[in-house]
Amino acid sequence: ILDLQQISYAFGSHTVVDRLSLQLAAGSIACLLGPSGCGKTTVLRCIAGFEHVAQGSIVLEGEIVARPGLHVAPELRRVGMVFQDYALFPHLTVAENIGFGLARSERAARVASLLQTVGLAGQGSRYPHELSGGQQQRVALARALAPRPRLLLLDEPFSNLDVELRERLAQEVRQILRAEGVSAILVTHDQHEAFAFADLVGVMHEGRIQQWDAPYNLYHRPANRFVADFVGQGV
Ligand code: ATP
Repeated sequence: ILDLQQISYAFGSHTVVDRLSLQLAAGSIACLLGPSGCGKTTVLRCIAGFEHVAQGSIVLEGEIVARPGLHVAPELRRVGMVFQDYALFPHLTVAENIGFGLARSERAARVASLLQTVGLAGQGSRYPHELSGGQQQRVALARALAPRPRLLLLDEPFSNLDVELRERLAQEVRQILRAEGVSAILVTHDQHEAFAFADLVGVMHEGRIQQWDAPYNLYHRPANRFVADFVGQGV
């Protein structure tokens, strides 16, 4: 569904993403794992279309959406995003948050079905501040799924939650995405979260993917010292 071919991105003279390539099959649930500042968020922003790549190309379902001199606008890419801080509209109810931007004809049915999907059936008339962090993040997920994205990007979505809830929600979100058949990439610096969520994990360091593999292989067959140290640390 997604093919990143040697993409690079720099802030001034600081190269943040360095000829990074990755391929994602439809229905995959993947993760970019790496220390703070290694460029994970920037990769997601390039895929979503919030940044222009300096080199390389991004292909979504066979369509080139970015390369130098070509940039398909974010709203035309059908890529959804969920952020760390949920970014819900505080003055709108849960149902209004999820239904925001949907066509009136399908809104009510879609919102009801998504509330069910994320385990918040019957909570549509509450406001974000009346919900726990975990519940707010479920609403943010439902809102991102509402327009039926072909790819969902999740940027440290669980980092504001306590450790125990974090892994549980990572697993739960994985099941929801599986059931909905949505491909997804999660970005995190937390290895437990990455392993609970993804079938495939890319370990990132200094703008590059050091190893793109199943969690088991990262742990047992690290490709280099960085992967061995980084993955070994948290276990
Ligand atoms: P984190 O987990 O801390 O968010 P990250 O791996 O997602 O880190 P990015 O947010 O992609 O990393 O940032 C990569 C690098 O780019 C960092 O060194 C950061 O300082 C730099 N950077 C990010 N945004 C900007 C900006 N707007 N202007 C200049 N430099 C930036």
